Amino acid sequence: MTLANIVRLPPEYELDPYTLIHELAHVWHYQNRGTAYISDLVWHQVSATLTTGSRNAAYEIAPEDLAAASLHDLPAEKQAVIIERWFTHPNLRHHPNYSRFLAEVRVTKLLPASI
Ligand SMILES: [Zn+2]
Repeated sequence: MTLANIVRLPPEYELDPYTLIHELAHVWHYQNRGTAYISDLVWHQVSATLTTGSRNAAYEIAPEDLAAASLHDLPAEKQAVIIERWFTHPNLRHHPNYSRFLAEVRVTKLLPASI
């Protein structure tokens, strides 16, 4: 679980690269949007659970997600999955939609440290 700039892991947890990058994407959310991303995460996980019976739908990337004009048009959880996949699947680094989304991550200006 990630809250603000801190990734919390259970004791003895073996952190895999997928989870690390995913949780660091949430740190990026916090550094760019403050705590607003938390309500986005909760909303989409609850919505997915109510509509599909599982919160996993909040993590699924559909073709229409990849066609979004901007990464910022997607829910925070899907943004984290896209960032996670880009870093952990080198073949996606040449995919046009993943590439343009990650270009948006790279140019994002961070909020001042006091926020
Ligand atoms: Zn997440």
